[in-house]
Amino acid sequence: MDRFLVTGAAGFIGSHLCERLLGDGARVVGVDRFSTFYEREDKEANLQALRDTDGFDFIEMDLSKDSLEEIVSKVDGVFHLAAQAGVRDSWGKAFSVYLDDNSLATQRLLEACRDRKHKAFVYASSSSIYGDALEGPTKEEAVPRPVSPYGVSKLAGEHLCYLYYRNFGVRTVSLRYFTVYGPRQRPDMAFRRFLTAGIEGKPISVYGDGEQSRDFTFVGDAAEGNYQAMMKGKAGSVYNIGGGHRATLNEVISLMGEIQGAPLEEIREDVQKGDVRHTWADTSLARAEIGFQPKTKLSEGLKAEHEWLLGRIKR
Ligand code: NAD
Repeated sequence: MDRFLVTGAAGFIGSHLCERLLGDGARVVGVDRFSTFYEREDKEANLQALRDTDGFDFIEMDLSKDSLEEIVSKVDGVFHLAAQAGVRDSWGKAFSVYLDDNSLATQRLLEACRDRKHKAFVYASSSSIYGDALEGPTKEEAVPRPVSPYGVSKLAGEHLCYLYYRNFGVRTVSLRYFTVYGPRQRPDMAFRRFLTAGIEGKPISVYGDGEQSRDFTFVGDAAEGNYQAMMKGKAGSVYNIGGGHRATLNEVISLMGEIQGAPLEEIREDVQKGDVRHTWADTSLARAEIGFQPKTKLSEGLKAEHEWLLGRIKR
């Protein structure tokens, strides 16, 4: 029976990944430092079901400071999702947090994984590394040109992965997630803010004209992509993980209105620095090499997130 390390286990995607792995009979060691990017209460809620599940152990620790040798010595593979994840907060003084939680934490974990016989080291990268995508779906070989400090920090992590693969044989696989959504989504992310405002009868702030588009990925599909990357990913490679459901923000807002039974009231605000205009994943490489095939339609995934929020807000 495999035993995996999941970093960022108390986070949005990490907690779903832990459940996916445990559901398959694997054992999981989850670590998280409960960073203050959002409330600890939210993260404890993400962990609630996991803490009661056989085969799950949780360790509160900081990957940028604490000793990592022991935790990596006891597992068959590493899923590295821990990070400071917001794009908009990555400017100015706050960048030092991104250096610690994204760059330094990744380098320390890779260093600890040298000379281990792990199946793989799966790294959570981001579509943010591309910057503004050119026309058509973006392939992995596109020149990365991040337009936010966050994107720069995630790209640095990918480069660290590659050089630990080249020099020390760590079997790294980097996954570039395209906007992940679903139950437990981070409170700073647009779908959660919009759906919450709709439930509470408040207006939503929309940055720009709403014609910006994203390739949205349901969290269950992203978790599955992680598992497939661990089992089948080629060492040293990079794959796009996109849901295959491109939509503009305006389309999403109208879909949310249908789900909630009333249109959302919108307030228009200026475009935010670091936000890209469009993202669009070409996932043919992930499909061919790891069998990645997202299954959840945008309308289904949105309904699932809405249901989850209804449960939380009424509590
Ligand atoms: P999240 O903030 O919910 O989860 C990240 C977790 O990492 C948090 O619980 C945080 O406390 C923990 N963490 C941060 N620094 C740590 C450290 N030094 N030591 C231990 N734990 C630490 O974010 P998420 O949305 O679940 O994102 C997970 C990963 O996926 C991140 O690496 C993020 O950059 C990447 N990603 C997410 C999206 C998305 O749409 N959510 C898109 C692209 C990439």
